[in-house]
Amino acid sequence: MKQVLIDGPYSTKILDVDKPKALKDWVVVKIRSAPLCTEFKFFKDGVMPDYPLGHEASGEVVEILDESNLKNGDRVVVMPQYPCGNCYSCDSGEYIHCLNTFDIKSFTGIQYGASTLAEYIVKPSWLLPKIPDELTYDEASMICCGLGPTYGAIDRIDLKKEDTVLITGMGPVGLGGIINAKDIGAKVIVTGHNDYRNDLAKKLGADLIINPKKNNALNLIKEFTNGLGVNKSIDCAGSVDSQRLCINASKRNASIAFVGESNSLKVHISNDLIRNGLTMVGVWHYNHNLIDDLMKISIRNKEKLNSLITHKFAIENINEAFLLQMTRKCGKVIISP
Ligand SMILES: [Zn+2]
Ligand SMILES: [Zn+2]
Repeated sequence: MKQVLIDGPYSTKILDVDKPKALKDWVVVKIRSAPLCTEFKFFKDGVMPDYPLGHEASGEVVEILDESNLKNGDRVVVMPQYPCGNCYSCDSGEYIHCLNTFDIKSFTGIQYGASTLAEYIVKPSWLLPKIPDELTYDEASMICCGLGPTYGAIDRIDLKKEDTVLITGMGPVGLGGIINAKDIGAKVIVTGHNDYRNDLAKKLGADLIINPKKNNALNLIKEFTNGLGVNKSIDCAGSVDSQRLCINASKRNASIAFVGESNSLKVHISNDLIRNGLTMVGVWHYNHNLIDDLMKISIRNKEKLNSLITHKFAIENINEAFLLQMTRKCGKVIISP
């Protein structure tokens, strides 16, 4: 099967490797849609990550030993990682925080089969939710990182219709957050530096779009909220400025979810948290029990999902796809193996 390899800065190769095999309750899926995430950073650096390249996909079941939950031909979303399914994190649906993730090579005996930037992948069946008939492979693949992380955030901060939410960072994750938040009916303020993506934010229904390079974001947010600030925010940018903006733009007793990753922000326990009554949570993914909700949101927002997906490439054109992502003139980019 075809498998993408990064073999130097700005350079990829398509390898021809062994196709994975079904094993116990592990199922082989032919990948139909593989949305790209942050793999372009490895492309830029010219190194393979020390985990499988690519983690978002949807596809068709093509090899299965136990047909009690799934059967050949089923259309499924491929959830990320290889959690054990038995620890307390997995039991609660928080499998992204699994304590005993599988080493796929020692389990299956082959090196490949865990990457979504390939023709086939092998996964435990419980990580392959079925796609409802109303959704295409591309649309359903958006429940991975298109809609997923911000929906996890929305669940944790309990976003409601009457809330005003600030979403910082208009990468594909932040853009997906607009779809989720507008589906609930909340007012949505976003910040982003890139005109292409800010235009896309408008198309997806953001109520106020701020470019912090051109305007004072804090002033505009305060103006929009009668001087009070927002009561919910989700940082998807992962920069000190955006994280600090979420704190400073919050009204008293507001909740903030951090989705974008970085370790540089200084949080002042007294002045930021205690005196303002803020709640802060870190969100990586979403609880497995929320998958049905995400499928329903996807069905209600098919048109917006197809706006979020701006480009598609054949696997042979992976270089071109990574280069496009680096320009930031795209939403979600999908690879079709
Ligand atoms: Zn992702
Ligand atoms: Zn586990």
